[in-house]
Amino acid sequence: MTNYRFDNRFIRDLPGDQESENQPRQVWGALWSPVMPALPPAPKLIAFSSEACAALGIDENELKQSHWLQALSGGDLIHGMQPYATNYGGHQFGQWAGQLGDGRAIGLGELLYQNQRWELQLKGAGGTPYSRRGDGKAVLRSSIREFLCSEAMFHLGVPTTRALSLVLTGEQVWRDMFYDGHPKQEPGAIVCRVSPSFTRFGHFQLPAMRGELDLLNRLINFTIERDFPHLQSLPTDQQRAAWFHEVCSTTATLMVEWMRVGFVHGVMNTDNMSILGLTIDYGPYGWIDNFDLYWTPNTTDAEGLRYCFGRQPAIARWNLHRFAEALGTVMTDHEILTAGLSRFDEVFAEKMGQMLAAKLGFSQWHDDDSLLVDRLFELMTKAEVDMTIFYRRLADIDLKNPHLSVLADAFYSESLYQQYLPEFEAWLNEYSERASTESVDAHLRKEKMNQVNPCYVLRNYLSQQVIDAAEQGNYQPISDLLEVMRHPYQEQAGKEQFAQKRPDWAKRKAGCSMLSCSS
Ligand code: AMP
Ligand code: MG
Repeated sequence: MTNYRFDNRFIRDLPGDQESENQPRQVWGALWSPVMPALPPAPKLIAFSSEACAALGIDENELKQSHWLQALSGGDLIHGMQPYATNYGGHQFGQWAGQLGDGRAIGLGELLYQNQRWELQLKGAGGTPYSRRGDGKAVLRSSIREFLCSEAMFHLGVPTTRALSLVLTGEQVWRDMFYDGHPKQEPGAIVCRVSPSFTRFGHFQLPAMRGELDLLNRLINFTIERDFPHLQSLPTDQQRAAWFHEVCSTTATLMVEWMRVGFVHGVMNTDNMSILGLTIDYGPYGWIDNFDLYWTPNTTDAEGLRYCFGRQPAIARWNLHRFAEALGTVMTDHEILTAGLSRFDEVFAEKMGQMLAAKLGFSQWHDDDSLLVDRLFELMTKAEVDMTIFYRRLADIDLKNPHLSVLADAFYSESLYQQYLPEFEAWLNEYSERASTESVDAHLRKEKMNQVNPCYVLRNYLSQQVIDAAEQGNYQPISDLLEVMRHPYQEQAGKEQFAQKRPDWAKRKAGCSMLSCSS
């Protein structure tokens, strides 16, 4: 077997839990606790990511063999692994929730490969001191969703944590999917996620809230040193400012990327915000079918719509504000923090403009374009237009002779199509006039638009179909769907069914449009 190089800095350099009891409790003065994953009764590898294997330097054939299978399911450790759970807090739905922590995530260590550091983390491998009332396990449906979406996002070019593997544990887990008093047994599963860092805003918030300022200072220094090494060359007094500004900037970029592809995270609590600006914690997330800024897949948020599609950028900023407050307990120059939040606004406005321009086939954003975009959003919402198909087809519009019929595929209802036809054609005329001011030929225009407007996204119902099959013991569709998602910007012959709009039956079906945090 290959020798893997582990360098477990998080637990080597940062203070750990003095107690060893693996029972839910408050952990003070420490950023992690040593834990052992639960033994899986009958582990079985049902999917893996070739690209993640390659990034980590793991031979695919080795991954399928028993020592890796054991490691990926919690049954054994590979030489150099040292399992631990980390301690963090967070604001959940706007309220400070105190200590949360890795309740069902267990870090295995930091694998070094080709100058890159990868934290490996099992999600669903059993209880930790942070499990509160949970069992530390994860079920097949939510694990399939995390596995597929992590890799789909990567292929779309959206910053994200990755997924290496998906295993069944062989155990049955009790879940009440909609918290309505109907628990049932579901197959237990584990995703091994990987990321250069799994550190969250909440890791900084907890020691700040507890007044453990020494611990907070150590975590900040550690994070800058390990995860932001390019800031090391700055004078010490400038490092923290540059660091916070960078977090604001990458978070703004992430929001623009979510808006570009139509991704709704669903639970943007501060404990689900990555310090590296990566998409993290795939729970009740969803993808926009018919364009609607107020849509959320999360049933827990159906009333408040706090985390709906269009509010994500504002929530990210709110979360950065909470993060800034935590840093403010040890960074006394608060102007640095205020300037960081302004940085978020600037980066977001600039990149959002560039992104929208690119989606529409404009080389640059003009201020007047916002009128065109506002009107488009309004029409797409009212007329129930599929976001992904719309932008893809827009590249086919003949700018000299624009017709809505070219976009007809994107409409969910014939009657709404007819009803909004005059308004949409008026928009299309204006749009075509604006697009004609760009000096590109039709072919190049289409090619460029297709690079930012995906043909395939991980539509909610596509995942649900794969889940239904897997729950019947057929796992092949997981890999088949991933295969399509590996090339989201390329039309693939014979894969047309993956690019179609949501079928009617999926509009209100559990798992397709309604999800809960139960996972
Ligand atoms: P999430 O909604 O997945 O971001 O989780 C919020 C918090 O609840 C985190 O601290 C999780 O580790 C914890 N958690 C969620 N599900 C479970 C579970 N089944 N067992 C233990 N902890 C859990
Ligand atoms: Mg979470």
